[in-house]
Amino acid sequence: MAIGKFQRNTQQRQVILEELQKLTSHPTAPDLYHTVRKRLPKISLGTVYRNLELLAQNNIIQKLDISGSEARFDGNPEQHHHVRCIHCGRVDDLNGLSADPVGNKLKESNGWKILGYRLDFIGICPECKGTHKKGM
Ligand SMILES: [Zn+2]
Ligand SMILES: [Zn+2]
Repeated sequence: MAIGKFQRNTQQRQVILEELQKLTSHPTAPDLYHTVRKRLPKISLGTVYRNLELLAQNNIIQKLDISGSEARFDGNPEQHHHVRCIHCGRVDDLNGLSADPVGNKLKESNGWKILGYRLDFIGICPECKGTHKKGM
């Protein structure tokens, strides 16, 4: 019995990971739940949340805490930066900036041990930019 449950969990996790890796939209857990349900109709939102947390803890995916929105998930575990649209909340990868523009030289400051840093970019996405031009 225990093995059967383990295998089902592994299969669910695999489907969640595959679907997340197909998307470039940095979905929230509920977004991904709707996609995954097409393949696993019986899966629950709680299961999707749990598996996303587990995958993120193991650095297989990234959990993005981008200010002003629910946690989003990224199938690409490599360090890269994101830009969020202030109008519609869309999140995209930011191109044109190296993964580590600050450099990892800063290890200590005023007694702090520095572990890393976050850079969040905000902007107006191409679609919202188009709408605004028409509106003006
Ligand atoms: Zn937008
Ligand atoms: Zn990303």
